[in-house]
Amino acid sequence: MPQIIDGKAISAQIKDEVRAKVQELKAAGVSVCLAVIQVGSDPASSVYVGNKKKACAYVGIESLAYELPEETTQEELLRLIGELNGRADVNGILVQLPLPKEIDENAVIRAIDPKKDVDGFHPQSVGALCIGQPGFVSCTPAGVIQLLKRSGIEIAGRECVVIGRSNIVGKPMSLLLLRENGTVTVAHSKTVNLQEVTRRADILIVAVGRPKMITREYVKEGAVVIDVGVHRNENNKLCGDVDYDDVAPVCSAITPVPGGVGPMTIAMLMHNCVEAADAR
Ligand code: NAP
Repeated sequence: MPQIIDGKAISAQIKDEVRAKVQELKAAGVSVCLAVIQVGSDPASSVYVGNKKKACAYVGIESLAYELPEETTQEELLRLIGELNGRADVNGILVQLPLPKEIDENAVIRAIDPKKDVDGFHPQSVGALCIGQPGFVSCTPAGVIQLLKRSGIEIAGRECVVIGRSNIVGKPMSLLLLRENGTVTVAHSKTVNLQEVTRRADILIVAVGRPKMITREYVKEGAVVIDVGVHRNENNKLCGDVDYDDVAPVCSAITPVPGGVGPMTIAMLMHNCVEAADAR
């Protein structure tokens, strides 16, 4: 039986560490505050925003919620970000994506002060990660590194294959594995002989966005498999990019969906908010 990597337990551990740090900062007269901006009322986004508010309440971070109507213009949104950038009592600014299509997401991300960029999406944060300088790291890949480390899985010197090269998961994931001294390959939709590439992996990170695409044919015997994907199947149940039942018997460790990578994203967001406050 493989080791089941318990994202629920590890994220709870991180949130408790953050909570203790928030108390320490409070005792030193520093409060931590996250501003969350949502434009429109996309149901999935509302669930994510609600979960972020709940996590803030748990760890003792103050949250300011801006629920803006769908018709909000880019100019209005940029003005609000400008105001929040200037507020000394706000440590982190998060704009829930996706935004309505009339708004240029890149312009919005660029408008956030990099010192408050707790999502780690600003080009300055991404550049800092690329050249090994301090900066905020995108929460989901940062969470995957924590899952590996806290489960006792060695990264240094191992063959790591990441399937997916998106700006929020695949690319930062590959840079983080490189920072941990893994030997990293990034696969994507134009990769030829994908199975041949993924079967080289000691650690296989799957962020392909296709339900249950990864079956045991893609996995080397004894590999560690991390499933970033999250989908609802035909019965409205959550599933990942990995066919868990098929892959689990051949690997040495695996993350389930739900309860694997998912809970880590918010825990790392809370961690980033405290870093932002601490840095001030
Ligand atoms: P995305 O932007 O759609 O990127 C998917 C990547 O997979 C792309 O780089 C694409 O290649 C590649 N790809 C697509 N089909 C492929 C194929 N047949 N073979 C090889 N590569 C293929 O997705 P994302 O935002 O990175 O998210 C990936 C998954 O993670 C999704 O299921 C998403 O819901 C989930 N997710 C979870 C969390 C969490 O907190 N757990 C957070 C973020 C995302 P090209 O670049 O060539 O198109």
